[in-house]
Amino acid sequence: MLNTTAKAQLFSNLKTYFGYDSFRKNQELIVEAVLSKKDCLVIMPTGGGKSICFQLPALSLPGVTLVISPLIALMKDQVDGLNANGIPASYFNSSQTGEMQTHIIEQVLSAKIKLLYVAPESLAALQNILNETYISCVAIDEAHCISSWGHDFRPSYQQLGFLKKTLPNTPFIALTATADKATREDIVKQLRITHAKQFISSFDRKNIALEVRPANDRISQIVKFIKQKPNQSGIIYCLSRKNTEQLSKKLNTNGISAEAYHAGLNFDARSKVQEDFVFDKTQIVCATVAFGMGIDKSNVRWVIHYNMPKNIEGYYQEIGRGGRDGLKSHALLFHSYADVIQLRNFASGASNEEVQVAKLERMKQFSESVTCRRKILLGYFGELLADNCGNCDVCKNPPQFFDGTIIAQKILSAIYRLEQTESMGMVIDVLRGSQNANVLSKGYHQLRTFGIGKDISWKDWQHFVVQLINQGFCEIAFHKHNALQLTAFSNNVLFKQAKVALTKPIAVKDIKVADKKPKVKRTKSKPKAIASNLFERLRALRYKIALEENIPAYLVFSDATLKEIERERPLSDSDFLKISGVGQRKLEVYGDEFIAEISSFMNSKVKKPKKVDTWMETYNLYRAGLSIEEISIKRKLTLTTIYSHIAKLYGSGKAINIFDFVSPSEVEAVKKAKQVLDAPKALKPYFTYFNEELDYFKIRLALSVIEKK
Ligand code: ADP
Ligand code: ZN
Repeated sequence: MLNTTAKAQLFSNLKTYFGYDSFRKNQELIVEAVLSKKDCLVIMPTGGGKSICFQLPALSLPGVTLVISPLIALMKDQVDGLNANGIPASYFNSSQTGEMQTHIIEQVLSAKIKLLYVAPESLAALQNILNETYISCVAIDEAHCISSWGHDFRPSYQQLGFLKKTLPNTPFIALTATADKATREDIVKQLRITHAKQFISSFDRKNIALEVRPANDRISQIVKFIKQKPNQSGIIYCLSRKNTEQLSKKLNTNGISAEAYHAGLNFDARSKVQEDFVFDKTQIVCATVAFGMGIDKSNVRWVIHYNMPKNIEGYYQEIGRGGRDGLKSHALLFHSYADVIQLRNFASGASNEEVQVAKLERMKQFSESVTCRRKILLGYFGELLADNCGNCDVCKNPPQFFDGTIIAQKILSAIYRLEQTESMGMVIDVLRGSQNANVLSKGYHQLRTFGIGKDISWKDWQHFVVQLINQGFCEIAFHKHNALQLTAFSNNVLFKQAKVALTKPIAVKDIKVADKKPKVKRTKSKPKAIASNLFERLRALRYKIALEENIPAYLVFSDATLKEIERERPLSDSDFLKISGVGQRKLEVYGDEFIAEISSFMNSKVKKPKKVDTWMETYNLYRAGLSIEEISIKRKLTLTTIYSHIAKLYGSGKAINIFDFVSPSEVEAVKKAKQVLDAPKALKPYFTYFNEELDYFKIRLALSVIEKK
């Protein structure tokens, strides 16, 4: 247990560096265990908040926390994220020059950084710092990679076993989002931390709404879906390269900008699509399953499966890329029999064909479920959910059962008359009395069952046949051209009056949309419209800053933080700091611009639109002899905002004694920095250049002097 001072320090660091007031489930216990030098195994779903479990203790520990991470791209984002929070951290990998590497090792030796990210392959190059004098903690991210039982085994992870020998008294924390029991045991065994305290959180991702629709007219369904979600990031998974390209083309012709991503593109093209997506430059990517590994982007708002995934593991991993920030995310899967058949064909002949087919079968059962889908999903991973989830399409639109015995009898007798040799399409054609060439050439129009189901649409017949298959009254013979065949249960229905309950097909238009906005009575001020407008402005500002700093937008602020800023509309530093996700550092660097945006937004709503007015107000007070502090208090604006007014006023030729606020030597220094840095647009490069010792407002003022000259 930690003493009260240490605990207070933790909470203070949580707010100062990460901007959070409280821990999420298990986080606090884990952080305390690490600080008490205990080894830990942490299983937490994607987006659960694993990073804080080692990043927060790292701040309290004397030396460096070594973070083992499999992907270089991920490392960079994590380090950028830490730096954006004011935490000194670096990464070490083979892509860096020798000089860079030496510099990083020096940072460790002189305890200048708190966290060092490294790929397992690069550990050998770090021998002389793998020593308890320098290393205070080891975190193994994506720890399932060490186990060949896991779904993403990486041989390079296996050399991690030696680490505990080298650092026997250092706490190790292994983290992963997915590991069944066998994998868990394997992880701790291989890392030699068998006594590790295990923290296992629920697998459930409650914020992801689950939905499955029949794959009819997918494109127009997708277009409609996306148009209801403007400006949101999403991924559409397709089975083939060709699909990704065709789909992105079709979306583009429908006015939706989307990129394709697949393994057939060259490395540069792939990197560009991925980076543009992470940076919010591209909102929608049509991709094969190769896309997403190593993407930490927290604001993916929806994931569509254009085709059926091969198995539930893959499906869960892919939909898990949505909603990492804990906000609502939507997972839409299109269920198609053609896909099942194609996947079945892919599997055939594989060495583990049986396993693959069984897994596909479970996937199919999930898609066709008439009970809560989340229950099935979690059940697959061995987690039992007591209540229905309320956030899947089945929970939202519970199916209505009716006595479908006669329908079932018609289907089964058609299968029988066709001598169990025809696939679903032909069975339905015969039931509906279709006069197509195939039917006629085979003479099926002479069968007794021909045309006995004209009154039911093709789609509805499909819906009923699928249910009969699910209930075991008939089956698909995959090895016989997917012919529908009878089963041992069929006789009960055909000859023994067994009753069959079927569900009514739901038309897509009847489906309640998951996040349909509640109807608000229109008032004169239209508060809804105004609010969303502010969000768009904040989003645009975030995007601009991200471009300037060359970091992904979600690292500036997550969607969750942006939403809270929109709701709370903070206008002072202290209120801005109250927002979850705003720490000290982000307040200093971004507070000013966001507060200015909010205040300009609010001013525009009271018809006092121009920025110039607010500058002039500051100017009048300045002319009246008030100090910057006094103006700030009087105008209820932050000091930084007032200083930015001063800079603007000075730049526009107003009589400001600029050298009261910034010295000529400081101006000279900034001038030099401007040359060295090649005149960056953002202020941050300057701030870094001056080792964070020259205040932002001084940089801004100095720049206005330089620009005026
Ligand atoms: P994981 O690595 O488990 O997928 P992350 O560590 O990336 O998850 O965290 C997911 C999101 O949750 C991030 O946006 C993170 O900032 C946020 N988060 C983590 N811990 C907290 C907390 N205690 N309060 C609020 N947000 C949190
Ligand atoms: Zn449900």
